Amino acid sequence: MKCLKPAKIEWHLPSPFSKDFDDVYFSDDGGEAEKQHVFIESNQLRERIQRLAPYEHLTIGETGFGTGLNFLLTARLWLSESLPTQCLHFISFEKFPLSRADMTKLMEQHHAHHPLKDALLAQYPPLQEGYHPLFFAEGRIRLTLIFGDVNDTLPELRGCVDVWYLDGFSPTKNPDMWQASLFSQMYRLSHANTHVSTFTASGNVRRGLRDAGFNVQISQGAGRKRDMLVAQGGKSEAQPRSTSSHAIVVGAGLAGCHTARALAERGVRVTLIDQNSQIAQGGSGNPQGALYAKLAMEQTPSSELHLFGLLYSVNLVSSLLETQPNVGALCGVLQLATTDKEHERQTRLLQANLFSTDILQAVSSHDASELANALIDKPGLFFPKAGWVSPVAWCAHLINHPLINCHFSEQVTKLDVLSAPRRWRITTNKDLYESESVILCSASDTQRLSPVQHLPLKAIRGQTSQIPSSGLPDLKTVVCGDGYISPALNESYCFGATFDLHDLSREVKVKDHQHNLQSLSRVLPDFAKVDPNQCNGRVGYRCSTPDYLPLVGEVGDYESFVKTYARLRVDSNWKDFETPLMHQGLYVNVGHGSKGLITCPISADVLAAMIAGTPSPLPNRLMERLDPNRFILRDLIRNRI
Ligand code: SAM
Repeated sequence: MKCLKPAKIEWHLPSPFSKDFDDVYFSDDGGEAEKQHVFIESNQLRERIQRLAPYEHLTIGETGFGTGLNFLLTARLWLSESLPTQCLHFISFEKFPLSRADMTKLMEQHHAHHPLKDALLAQYPPLQEGYHPLFFAEGRIRLTLIFGDVNDTLPELRGCVDVWYLDGFSPTKNPDMWQASLFSQMYRLSHANTHVSTFTASGNVRRGLRDAGFNVQISQGAGRKRDMLVAQGGKSEAQPRSTSSHAIVVGAGLAGCHTARALAERGVRVTLIDQNSQIAQGGSGNPQGALYAKLAMEQTPSSELHLFGLLYSVNLVSSLLETQPNVGALCGVLQLATTDKEHERQTRLLQANLFSTDILQAVSSHDASELANALIDKPGLFFPKAGWVSPVAWCAHLINHPLINCHFSEQVTKLDVLSAPRRWRITTNKDLYESESVILCSASDTQRLSPVQHLPLKAIRGQTSQIPSSGLPDLKTVVCGDGYISPALNESYCFGATFDLHDLSREVKVKDHQHNLQSLSRVLPDFAKVDPNQCNGRVGYRCSTPDYLPLVGEVGDYESFVKTYARLRVDSNWKDFETPLMHQGLYVNVGHGSKGLITCPISADVLAAMIAGTPSPLPNRLMERLDPNRFILRDLIRNRI
């Protein structure tokens, strides 16, 4: 996890010139026509789009995002040729991203009238290594920018690619990129009908693609170039799994609603069941919550997940606000240091230069007061792109999809597996439902069902408080210290929350309002005058796991796991496993603790990608850390089971 240096660009020619590679990004005469020929026409993209079924996704992988010209040309074609239910997923790798200033200049000079220009600039990511999703045209187009060297990041990609744009400066100017391992990784992610095109006809590239397994042909080049290459093929097992046509999602909180939506957007009909009478009544039911991540010095899985999850949620909200303004606001988040120790930690974090200033910046107490529009006497960090959301409004938007069918006030009492054909049966207090895929998103209630009773989930009580905003400062940003508060919504402030491991009562308590007010007034002294007896409130339960990371993925058969991995009790390094049995088609998306706003959306996407075989929004190494079966192995190693 590190900040990247921006591409060194010169602007003395009509097209931008790369000082890093001593080459132009596209030729001055007919650059657009060349890209159109090499990447769009040679891959027969228009015909390919026209052949897609409703709800089908098309995934394009590109080496070298550069100025984004290929993306913008492809997006324009997609908007004119595809159905509103189909999704283009454009994944582009970039080692030297353009700075925001250069990207802005380029957009103004070359793409001033492109329909995605403003949204691209609004969501253009910080120059930070890793995965950056951008969302356009109400879900019809998605761009995942993967910043870093493609030879390091491609092996971490999970999923399937339908078309490759093999761009990148010429093999003579950029030999490091055009390696045999690049071609074999592309082949791993391709299927029999995957197409590749590249502007070069270099013998090394031709042999590299062929040796990786592709069927390569020389084709007519663009403009003055005689030749270029096209190729086809891929590892058969990389073929996208045929999406199951129906799935049952249990739980209509943030995790369940995001999961239902992610599946529906891939053409899966979803039955969404919840025991409450409406959406987001459990841990997700507070009127407002902060999009907030606590980033660490060390590259831990949780720091990485929180960073990628924050960036994911922020861009998803950004893409929604124009049509769904009640979902929230990206007004910035202050994270204030309430102790000397926290101030030292923040100072070290800033000195290490790990994060781009687009992600976080240092602020004095004076700056913090100006930003928040209230007296603040603590320094801290400012996350300029983050903000708050209304979980209820977000969930309401998510389930408003023709393929999602909601069943409220139904409690799931039983989960059975049926054979011939194999499928899952859910029994509720009112009805029976069957499907080949079931995704449990019901927080710690999930444990009540027998195949998943072993999951180590814990409910942690949290009480939030609400007060009328009149007579108090008119906050302009989210302010976090020991707790959090968002700008007023409907003339009311919502803040909190308590953290109680032992008390599981549902009753709202004045002593908890007092606790919330004390935490708040440590960073916002104006709130010290509020009488706790005047507060309203709400009790919710966070669902936590022993390592504070969510459980996302397919559930294993507990007995089979214990038997398969039994030798770990005596040899913790033992690796020679057979494959344990899985509860095929049974998934969980739970354990998001108090970070659900930044981990549920990305986790839902991870699950939908797993089920549909589309590319995952997280690198493989992080997906492995979210595996719901990880605690069985840990407990065997510790001799606890
Ligand atoms: N596709 C781009 C467009 O449509 O504007 C143009 C791509 S430009 C010719 C090549 C890009 O590849 C540059 O932005 C360069 O920084 C990037 N690149 C070069 N080597 C790379 C590597 N090893 N990993 C990732 N990106 C790389």
